[in-house]
Amino acid sequence: MENGKHPWQQKPQPITDVVAEETCDIVVIGAGISGVVATQSAAEAGADVICVEKFGGFTAHGTDICGVNTKVHERYGIHIDPIKAARLIYAWGQQQSNYDLIRTYTERSGEMLDHYIDMMEDAGYTVKVNDEMTARTDWDTLDDRYQMFRSPHLFEVPEGSSLKKVMWNAAYLVRTVMASAEALGARFWFNTEAVQLIREGDRVTGVIVKDADGYKRICARKGVILATGGITDNQEMLECFCPIALRADKNDNFPPGGNMGDGIVMGAQIGAALSRVNPAPVIHPVSFTVLAPGFNSSWLMINRDGKRFCNETAYEPCITNARMNAPGNVAWAVWDSHFDENFKRQEPAKYARLNESVTDGVQKAVDEGDYVMADTLEELAQKIGVPPENLVKTVERYNQLVEAGEDTDFGVPERFLSPVKDAPFYASTISAWLLCVPYGLHVDAHSQVCDEDDDPIGGLYAVGNVQGDFFANSYPVTLPGSNHGRSVTFGRLVGQSLAQDEYLDGTPITR
Ligand SMILES: Cc1cc2nc3c(=O)[nH]c(=O)nc-3n(C[C@H](O)[C@H](O)[C@H](O)COP(=O)(O)OP(=O)(O)OC[C@H]3O[C@@H](n4cnc5c(N)ncnc54)[C@H](O)[C@@H]3O)c2cc1C
Repeated sequence: MENGKHPWQQKPQPITDVVAEETCDIVVIGAGISGVVATQSAAEAGADVICVEKFGGFTAHGTDICGVNTKVHERYGIHIDPIKAARLIYAWGQQQSNYDLIRTYTERSGEMLDHYIDMMEDAGYTVKVNDEMTARTDWDTLDDRYQMFRSPHLFEVPEGSSLKKVMWNAAYLVRTVMASAEALGARFWFNTEAVQLIREGDRVTGVIVKDADGYKRICARKGVILATGGITDNQEMLECFCPIALRADKNDNFPPGGNMGDGIVMGAQIGAALSRVNPAPVIHPVSFTVLAPGFNSSWLMINRDGKRFCNETAYEPCITNARMNAPGNVAWAVWDSHFDENFKRQEPAKYARLNESVTDGVQKAVDEGDYVMADTLEELAQKIGVPPENLVKTVERYNQLVEAGEDTDFGVPERFLSPVKDAPFYASTISAWLLCVPYGLHVDAHSQVCDEDDDPIGGLYAVGNVQGDFFANSYPVTLPGSNHGRSVTFGRLVGQSLAQDEYLDGTPITR
């Protein structure tokens, strides 16, 4: 903070010591999934594109990529109701976000991803619907509150292929799309940081970037697409906009310093409004143990005081949100010796696909210190440091609800209720893994950045996590893989339409 103002509230010093100038049609800022897709799509539509990236290569992480009703869905016989999916996502954000953006996403993401499915299959990758991990096989049959569609796609390197394997599958898509963009003539300027947007009158006409040689001006005939990611790495922004994210255990965003909210600062400094919605941090209870409490399965959950405090259905953000606001920021899942049959009842499809015995997996987790085991509830309470009398009382009440078949306290569906009755008893902490904090600029239905009066700023667009107004309050897993999905959808829609001098609905852009 300087003079009592945050960087996004300050007027920037004009940069005059520019050593070089370049002109193109479109500048894309950031080579993550949204920026690379935008670059490729604009180049494919005939534009001369430069993508600037502050690091030495592209950024990609994660696995699931959502598209609604793709050709792969057709092969699987899956149909997702796009109107319902939009309604659920909008409702999840308490109607704070921009419904038109969400609807565009659910209606057009299939067609957008199909383009890349073809490209990936041509390049030798396989693609499947990932309903083994984030999306559950039959959660699309649950009621609205928990309905989760089988939307995520997973690109893989087939056995025997010479394609290079990497840890995060999303990188397969990004590197393939980047190669296509380069073949189409797009230029990627790595180790080049965008520092200031150039606004002339009511339009953004370019950007000042900095590399090892100094400042350079890039003039953009058609416009600038911000694709700088969210605010995950920016402590000051997290404190201001999303303090709950600071209570997560682990931040695996990388490379560190990538998601500093640069697009927000650059945009605000030329008059763009920040998104008015509460950011929706992506904080999952990721665990790689066999039951993965909170992620793969649902069990009674207690806080530091040994008291039940939330709905334990493994609909991801519910659990982590509750834990991060629990006293001491700690939570334990508790279950009993019938875990095998209870897990099978909760998640029959997942259970059938396991390639290890649940009993062996639980024992391994106990041996490795991931789970705590005890012969009595009192002993378990002592081992995990919660008041034994409270745990006993909590378990009594929980078991009554299970027996009645209705969780009148928190509303967990009967399928996910499992009594805690017979020794040995087990406990496992619930992790909170911060993947990213999408938060960005206020945009309209064309993903064009707007000012405080909601008027679009000519020539400035935002895609990916710097596109504000899409998610609100808490990341929904209605359509798992939506971070990537909306990055691909709007990256492609905006790249293509800007190159063709059109808005997303096909109406011409007049300058
Ligand atoms: C471990 C992990 C797992 C995940 N798993 C999934 C998943 O399975 N499904 C899913 O949908 N999402 C997942 N996510 C989230 C997803 O990866 C992000 O939402 C997605 O990367 C956002 O894409 P983006 O293009 O907006 O931003 P990013 O991928 O963050 O790219 C932004 C790029 O802009 C560059 N940049 C920033 N500022 C500047 C500047 N001033 N000048 C030049 N360049 C700049 C950055 O260096 C970066 O390369 C995961 C995230 C993590 C960390």
